[in-house]
Amino acid sequence: MQSFSVSTRQRTEFVDITRKVESAVEAMGARDGVVTVFVPHTTAGVTVNEHADPDVMADMDAALERVVPWRAGYAHAEGNAAAHVKASLMGSSAQVIIAEGRLRLGTWQGLFLCEFDGPRTRTVWVAR
Ligand code: ZN
Repeated sequence: MQSFSVSTRQRTEFVDITRKVESAVEAMGARDGVVTVFVPHTTAGVTVNEHADPDVMADMDAALERVVPWRAGYAHAEGNAAAHVKASLMGSSAQVIIAEGRLRLGTWQGLFLCEFDGPRTRTVWVAR
């Protein structure tokens, strides 16, 4: 297993971690198979989506904010219930195929750490 850290600077932020995951796959010496990218946090997640046009993730942010507003009479006393809900909507893991030592992603696809209660330092685990 490999791990790396990601420091976020805003409450909500989508950080492109594709290169870091590629480096982790190289370090594992993985040639073919599947890796799991796992985020061990309850207010952050991981997703695969377009990393060519940054407007896509800006739209993702806006859409999630419409569905799960920061203030909406939640019970969770910590005050970050929206971040917990968004983290579950994105999910805490993603699977990616590895072929010939490279991540097999679509042309426009990248992996994003999804921060919903930043700024914080987050951990990402990559395992086969
Ligand atoms: Zn909380």
